[in-house]
Amino acid sequence: MNKQEILQAVLESDELPTLPTVASKLISLTSKEETTLTDIAELVSQDMSLSSKILKVSNSAFYSFPQQIGSIKQAVSVLGTNAVRSLVLSFSFLSMKGGRKPSKFNFEKFWERSLASAVASKIILEKVKGADTEEVFISGLLQNLGELIFARTFPDEYERVLEAITDDQHDPLGTEESIIGTDHCYIGFEVARSWGFPNVLLQPIIYHHDPSQYREGDKTILATIKAVYLSDLLINILFSNKPEDYHKQFRKEAKKLLGLSNQHIENILEEVHFKVVQAGEYFGLKIKDTKSIQEILQEANIKLSLLNLDYDQMNKQLVQAKIELENLTRELEEKNKFLDNLANVDGLTEVYNHRYFQSALENEIDRSIRQDSTIALIITDIDHFKSFNDNFGHQTGDFILKEFCKALQSELRKYDTLARYGGEEFAIILPSTNEEEAMSVSEKLRKKIEESVFNDGSESYRLTSSFGIAVTRPTVEDSFSNSVFVNRADEALYEAKKQGRNKSVVWQHKKKWYKF
Ligand code: GH3
Ligand code: MG
Ligand code: MG
Repeated sequence: MNKQEILQAVLESDELPTLPTVASKLISLTSKEETTLTDIAELVSQDMSLSSKILKVSNSAFYSFPQQIGSIKQAVSVLGTNAVRSLVLSFSFLSMKGGRKPSKFNFEKFWERSLASAVASKIILEKVKGADTEEVFISGLLQNLGELIFARTFPDEYERVLEAITDDQHDPLGTEESIIGTDHCYIGFEVARSWGFPNVLLQPIIYHHDPSQYREGDKTILATIKAVYLSDLLINILFSNKPEDYHKQFRKEAKKLLGLSNQHIENILEEVHFKVVQAGEYFGLKIKDTKSIQEILQEANIKLSLLNLDYDQMNKQLVQAKIELENLTRELEEKNKFLDNLANVDGLTEVYNHRYFQSALENEIDRSIRQDSTIALIITDIDHFKSFNDNFGHQTGDFILKEFCKALQSELRKYDTLARYGGEEFAIILPSTNEEEAMSVSEKLRKKIEESVFNDGSESYRLTSSFGIAVTRPTVEDSFSNSVFVNRADEALYEAKKQGRNKSVVWQHKKKWYKF
């Protein structure tokens, strides 16, 4: 169906709402120049219920007239013809409900929103100096009349439109155009025209989505269209799920279209919520006590900052988790290495234990045999360690044993093996080392210990150690064993003790001791 065919279908539809008689008659009356205020007053007065509603609003803060308005005649003369017409139309439309066909369209919500738009349009235009605000309320109220007509005459199609635009991603006019074949601006305009609406009320209906399309050049009408257009942005701050976006857009467009100042905009944002709720009371619509724009924007702000905070925190937590994971992996690797080594390591000094020493010595001797190289073994025993323990306590003794090992280790190559042979006795395997080299290593170690000051945090301790050295070039034939080798180093150590301690002695065949 093309635009015209759709319009035809709408106008011929049983579901097209009909204007209440009073409203209809009032429109034709006000379009005639010869009509007097009395004519209008008499017409409205025929509808008692409508009259009392109009009087109630006339006397409310909505108009805030200083004097009491006691009759419709007085209302017409005080408020003016157009204002009374607006009120009659407002009440007529606000009671317009759904048709016979079931529809998911929420008519109550529609009028709530329309009333809010009417109030917003009025508040906006009132800020423009010298603006004529007579028709803006009813223009704001009826801007989306076409939507209500679609909901009644094309309920299935319009339901699909609503489904498509609920996510706020779709432009409503384009969606209506593609699903139904035309938009609510055109249909609202044409239907209102068929009801005899005056031009001043028709133009805002067709151009409320794009004021720049209005070409007739009537400044009052143009200002009304602009205010109605802006009212939709303003109301979206209250009703949409993107209040911040509409707030920004409203501020920008209000300045651009109507030249509103920041102060005016602040005032509008401040008063709109209250005025909407108030108007709901006057027009018999219970608008649920919504939040004010300030509250809504503040909430949106908090949500946004929470979102940012969450993102930051999330980022921090991710980084933290990554670091922790890396640390954990490293720790695990170290723990595994440690566990692998646990059986080979001395619990106190963390150097290799006696068991490991024995197998390491075996391996190194085998290697020396294969490589036909010399191998050296040093056994060192701390001097007078018994009396050290007696003087400073066993715990300090333990501390010294650990520090002693560290001191030795610091002077050794990485392929040398330091092991706790037992008690305060330590063995050092030096692969590929001749006698001369072994003596120099031994002396280096002895001096290191002699010069070291061990401090446990409260006191400093010094001590010496004696070193026995054995060096050999093992062969397969001499069936060289660990114990022979260790015994030789031990003998040399005994000699070092004998010679006064803090000495290095190398084992010799003829028991001619080399001392240093
Ligand atoms: P020397 O110069 O002749 O070697 O005298 P010494 O006192 O060092 O020799 P001795 O063999 O008489 O005493 C060894 C001492 O080493 C006895 C023991 O209390 C101490 N010792 C052995 N193992 C440990 C240990 O694990 N911790 C502590 N604190 N002391 C230990
Ligand atoms: Mg000792
Ligand atoms: Mg000893």
